[in-house]
Amino acid sequence: MSEIPSLTLYELIKNIKEKKISSNEAAKSFIDRAERSKKLNTYVTDNFENCLKLSKQFDNRPNFDLKLPGIPIAVKDLFCTTDVRTTAGSNILNNFIPTYESTVTQNIWNEGGILLGKLNCDEFAMGSSNETSFFGNVQNPISKDLVPGGSSGGSSAALAANLTPITIGTDTGGSIRQPASFTGTVGLKPTYGSCSRYGIVAFASSLDQAGPMSKDVKDCSILLEVISSFDKKDSTSIDFKRNNYSKELTNNIKGLKIGIPKEYRIDGMPDEIEKLWQKGIEYAKECGAEIIDISLPHTSYALPTYYIVAPAEASSNLARYDGVKYGFRSSGENLIDMYEKTRSEGFGEEVKRRIMIGTYVLSSGYYDAYYLKAQKVRQLIKKDFDDAYNKVDAILTPSTPSSAFKIGEKSSDPVSMYLNDIFTVPVNLAGLPGISIPAGTDKNNYPLGLQIIGKPFDEQTVLNIAYSMEEKINYKNNICDWWIK
Ligand code: GLN
Repeated sequence: MSEIPSLTLYELIKNIKEKKISSNEAAKSFIDRAERSKKLNTYVTDNFENCLKLSKQFDNRPNFDLKLPGIPIAVKDLFCTTDVRTTAGSNILNNFIPTYESTVTQNIWNEGGILLGKLNCDEFAMGSSNETSFFGNVQNPISKDLVPGGSSGGSSAALAANLTPITIGTDTGGSIRQPASFTGTVGLKPTYGSCSRYGIVAFASSLDQAGPMSKDVKDCSILLEVISSFDKKDSTSIDFKRNNYSKELTNNIKGLKIGIPKEYRIDGMPDEIEKLWQKGIEYAKECGAEIIDISLPHTSYALPTYYIVAPAEASSNLARYDGVKYGFRSSGENLIDMYEKTRSEGFGEEVKRRIMIGTYVLSSGYYDAYYLKAQKVRQLIKKDFDDAYNKVDAILTPSTPSSAFKIGEKSSDPVSMYLNDIFTVPVNLAGLPGISIPAGTDKNNYPLGLQIIGKPFDEQTVLNIAYSMEEKINYKNNICDWWIK
């Protein structure tokens, strides 16, 4: 069936359960499409052979009670997968084959999912364009020479190009929502502590969260249900009652109060983003929501705060890559020389920049001025949201300050790259759930996303608002297969 790749996850599951499509047929069709889509550079490592084998096994002994019965799925190469190379987009992990599985991917396999392969990403998830990957940049299938967003750019591109029915990414400062926005797909960052961080290559531990990426909101709710779980192996995992997100999904949001934060109306915001936001407000009203103006006064400090906290934690997390325990090792005259050569040859430019910033803000003379101060501001940012949630149920903002930019356009100017995260990082600093849904296009017909931010652990409301707005927006991704062989 040549149309299999274009099915939503929900439709694919239905067809598999009704035995109209076998798991093996589905696997074959995604693999065939991936083989013809090499131009996009989405895969770092494929698991095609094994996927075909496992899908046959599933078909021989199917279990249709599972939530992802025999569904082939490609995942971001930041999740450790047993016996399958896991690189985090870095040369330093170029030959790293984990002996253990991340909890999030394990949850997917437990429900019948089958690994298609590992998708390209920015090195150690540091980036907004997938250009920092050691394995080269990823093309946005929407248009030639366009970035797919980052750091989960391989995931967003593979999804938009129908190379996988759903996928998972990680979001430390926007890396699920921003690539979703750039590719006309849906991406959810759950509340911090919802999805286990066990087995995910760490970037900034107090911010990192895994989350679902999908073609629509319903699929997103199905995948969230599978990956969100309490996990003793992650000390920051939280034991709360999780919903049956897909079953409880409703487009009835009548009476919900949605806040519009005035501080997100930043200087120099392109007209089309402002218009999109206005349109979003109208859609939310049509869905029966009440719109309320709110203030998040510390918003302008979010970006500088993030770019202190995240590099600080990264510099500490990345200290473990010394050529001894993991992956790549360079030869040196003595131990120190080996450490130095391994790290300077193993890490790319952006990662080194973050390690240097992080080491600087944690150093004894500057700790109070930068790191400690940033931690205090982070509390204020969190408090802004707490105060807002006394008045509203959710918050609506644009996902990004622009549509996808050209490959190479921002890579020589890190600050302009960092500015792209302006609407997403506050959500990570406050540990909240946030979703990006496609909501329109710019003058070039490139997709633009709207972000819905929720209360802690209230993914259901976020999904419900997204679901009802999605119906009104009725967005169709306009993809011509220019990259296909
Ligand atoms: N673009 C942000 C950064 O480079 C966010 C990355 C992420 O969420 N992993 O830090």
